[in-house]
Amino acid sequence: MSQKTERICKKGHHYFKSSDCPTCPVCEEERKAEAGIFAVLAAPARRAMASHGINTLEQLANYSEKEILQFHGIGKTSIPALKNLLAERRLSFKA
Ligand SMILES: [Zn+2]
Repeated sequence: MSQKTERICKKGHHYFKSSDCPTCPVCEEERKAEAGIFAVLAAPARRAMASHGINTLEQLANYSEKEILQFHGIGKTSIPALKNLLAERRLSFKA
């Protein structure tokens, strides 16, 4: 029988796990939330965001529509989706 032991992850989250799996459930949730921002995009577009270090809509708002279109993996169809995401947060592309 495995016993649950308290662990503390690198970020300082406390959690209990019985297995040897070192995955912190709090960090896992945070990662999912991050992926969720661009969940509406096609996989190539999501990868383009990640490869340019864009993980939040605030970061996305630092770019102009023209700059985003130059990213490999971003097509014209991605732009309306991104605009909607930005609008939800009352943000917009850089003019
Ligand atoms: Zn954690």
